[in-house]
Amino acid sequence: MYNPATGEVTAQVGLATAEEVDHAVGVAAAAAVEWKATSLAKRTAIMFSFRDLVDEHKADIAALLTAEHGKVLSDSLGEVQRGIENIEYACGLAEHLKGSFSQQASTEVDVYSIRQPLGVVAGITPFNFPAMVPMWMYPNAIAAGNTFILKPSEKDPSVNTLVAELFDKAGLPAGVFNIVQGDKVAVDRILEHPDIAAVSFVGSTPIARYVYTTGTNAGKRVQALGGAKNHMVVLPDADIGLAADAAVSAAYGSAGERCMAIAVAVAVGPAADPLVAAIKERIPGLVVGDGSDAASEMGPLITEQHRDRVASFIENAPSEGATVVVDGRVGAFGGDGFFIEPSLLDNVAPGMACYDEEIFGPVLCVTRVDTYDEAMKLISDSPFGNGTAIFTRDGGAARRFQMDVDAGMVGINVPVPVPVGYYSFGGWGDSLFGSSHAYGPEGIDFYTKAKVVTSRWPDPATSTIDLGFPQNV
Ligand code: NAD
Repeated sequence: MYNPATGEVTAQVGLATAEEVDHAVGVAAAAAVEWKATSLAKRTAIMFSFRDLVDEHKADIAALLTAEHGKVLSDSLGEVQRGIENIEYACGLAEHLKGSFSQQASTEVDVYSIRQPLGVVAGITPFNFPAMVPMWMYPNAIAAGNTFILKPSEKDPSVNTLVAELFDKAGLPAGVFNIVQGDKVAVDRILEHPDIAAVSFVGSTPIARYVYTTGTNAGKRVQALGGAKNHMVVLPDADIGLAADAAVSAAYGSAGERCMAIAVAVAVGPAADPLVAAIKERIPGLVVGDGSDAASEMGPLITEQHRDRVASFIENAPSEGATVVVDGRVGAFGGDGFFIEPSLLDNVAPGMACYDEEIFGPVLCVTRVDTYDEAMKLISDSPFGNGTAIFTRDGGAARRFQMDVDAGMVGINVPVPVPVGYYSFGGWGDSLFGSSHAYGPEGIDFYTKAKVVTSRWPDPATSTIDLGFPQNV
């Protein structure tokens, strides 16, 4: 692992073998028996205490996160805070796991539903939100009575070790939350292990597709969230200053390494020139530097290789017909850190690599269109469908947009519309494989299976034999 701000190797992570994964699954399966039988009251108390411990230690978690990921401290703190929302949701497990009951559905017959845990479930997570994305998964999974195996990204794995210590302190029994550090070897074993009932994955689209196909072929329940290329439509009537502030925040926050980052600003008609000018004017004011420095607003990218890939999109943009308005490769390459400064490309169109591919760096593309309908077509033609946003003062246009747009999460004058913890998170198209979104109500559904009980306590005096199909009387 590196400190991306200095390029220094700061630690080594051991990668699990298939046998080590098997060992972890064995431990989780043994713990699952008692955990599932633990009362809702005890599980709730542990979740509340875990929530308080994470809140108490959020500065430590954020510091560790910044040291390995590179994002600025305020962003790391924000990530942990959004993760805490998911723990808070899981604290309501008694409410979420309530079934329904129908008395006297038929004579002497009552019908009720219950939700039960799946057993051992696993999560495989990306580098870009090393604390929050796992928190989309394990709080709900564990609260629902499952035991959990987390395989974090090998690029910034330490945060979860600290979180596991806090869970232990909160009174979580040994074996309920387990971490396996690893790469493809560990992932493949998780996908084929017969004792793992479900897998949640978040990462890039090709791996999400692979995890979904392999996991479901092995008979598992899988939700696999993939990559993104999020469009922000700016209508001519929008407040251009507000839209530019939003575009800059959403494109360059966390150095663009967010699956909900704005990658393409779609400027409709006369919005284009003032929007490009306003974004260009704001860029020099952004402070790029070591994430642990409180003055920094944007940190480095995760690795040197990734930084070079991001730079290649800027390099190739002019030959594809785009205009480089701000070139972030200038000036940022002095030290050994993996920095690239905020960059702005104009006149970007489908067919160009900078439009078609997920760059996952601080490069904002502007695509100019003449009409609202052209903007909508761009979004529906994109293979991804994670987040999208519209900037306008016209409520009717915004309402039509949220009805018609092909994306799972929509912002109206909100550029990064990550749903709160009591809704669920998920995109459309190649941004999500499987039908279940992450966290919130769909998270609870994903980690439980439903059972419906039809129960009869008959009066022995009325008992008879009846070979017909059961009727409700
Ligand atoms: P990645 O796909 O490279 O890695 C994700 C996980 O898969 C890691 O744990 C990694 O160890 C594992 N992995 C990597 N290659 C593998 C392989 N060949 N076989 C099996 N497992 C493998 O993603 P990343 O670079 O860590 O994260 C960035 C990506 O994640 C971006 O595409 C981003 O859009 C996406 N992302 C999506 C969401 C979402 O909610 N849709 C959220 C965050 C990040």
